[in-house]
Amino acid sequence: MLSYTEALQIVGKTVTPLPPRLLPLAEAAGLVLAEETRSRLDLPPADNSAMDGYAYGFAGQPAGDRLTVTGFIPAGALRTETVPAGHCVKIMTGAPLPPGCDTVVPIEETEESDGQVRLRKAGQKGVHVRYRGEEIRKGEILLAAATRLGPGEIGLLAAAGVAQVRVYPRPRVAVLSTGDELVELGAAMRPGQIVNSNSYLLTARLRELGCEVVPLGIGGDEPEALRALLQEGLKADLLVTSGGVSMGDRDLVQEVLRGLGFDLGFWKVAIKPGKPVLFGTVATVPVFGLPGNPAASAATLEIFVAPAVRLLAGAADPLPPRLPARLGGDIPAGGKRETFLWGRLRWAEGGYCFDPSLRQGSGQNRSLQGAHALLAVPAGAAPPAGEVVEVLLLRLPPGGAL
Ligand code: AMP
Ligand code: MG
Repeated sequence: MLSYTEALQIVGKTVTPLPPRLLPLAEAAGLVLAEETRSRLDLPPADNSAMDGYAYGFAGQPAGDRLTVTGFIPAGALRTETVPAGHCVKIMTGAPLPPGCDTVVPIEETEESDGQVRLRKAGQKGVHVRYRGEEIRKGEILLAAATRLGPGEIGLLAAAGVAQVRVYPRPRVAVLSTGDELVELGAAMRPGQIVNSNSYLLTARLRELGCEVVPLGIGGDEPEALRALLQEGLKADLLVTSGGVSMGDRDLVQEVLRGLGFDLGFWKVAIKPGKPVLFGTVATVPVFGLPGNPAASAATLEIFVAPAVRLLAGAADPLPPRLPARLGGDIPAGGKRETFLWGRLRWAEGGYCFDPSLRQGSGQNRSLQGAHALLAVPAGAAPPAGEVVEVLLLRLPPGGAL
């Protein structure tokens, strides 16, 4: 059976970034740039005052010298008239320096009376001026291709006049739950039925990962209906199903996909939970068949689908970050397969502690609740409580109270 690493490599070789799109900057937060992006402007766009003060032409004026005030330039205003020697203009922070001026004296270093300003001390040529293009030059590369656009990047691009960016779009992911035992939340339940909770779980996490989810509801264990739904799902950028990939008589997902031209990447990986996980493509669309048990669905979403989603979205680094953490409790002794354990992170004595969830069975609904990280335990291994392990970080716990 394939190891997790081998299976992940198949995903990495198969999934490629979506075709980039030109989007308005406001819609690009969280997305990855597909090309290097240059400034459209000089920043600042003109020489301007760094202080509220008086702008003048520096001529070695000594302390106590007086300048005649000839005008006022608030931020946003422009004065094109030259300021004569021996004169100055009152100027506010950010206002462009008028012709004839090269220096600013801050208000607090002056005294103004009768239309004259007295310099408390000798100035210095060019001080308190921010020069055109001092921070950024028009045409300068601001961000490299493959940069993720966080708030800082978005703000920078806006300041530099970049209204549209070429980015990898948000992946559209179709989600289909399969199983005759499933009913939608809120619908009347007959004996033997369970709520289709996986669609909720998968959708919540996929949205958190930046995807747009296309909900396909429930597919019964019946080939014709399943085929129509899978076909619908293949219109998305990625198709994720849950259930119907094990060895049961009603596990039809792979068989029906085959009828649609499924190219198998792998089926079954030496992991726990999630062994029956299925991966392949139909034409160019990657398809993941996740096992139906909630914790198995969630684990395989995290360790296979999340990296694939990040690859579609143009990430150069699709794997979750790793964090050293002290193991806060005992874990089950080494299994035959690589085991993924959910757990919570807790800040303790200058580092994080990883507390494994108590119920880790793949059918359990509570193992993921409150989980911040996954611990991958190699087959046969069982690190003891207290040991520092590397966990796969899903999200950090909240900080402290005020
Ligand atoms: P399967 O992988 O189809 O054999 O499903 C295994 C078990 O997972 C089923 O018996 C259900 O208990 C559970 N299951 C399957 N699909 C879902 C779902 N969409 N939501 C919640 N539990 C599910
Ligand atoms: Mg089933």
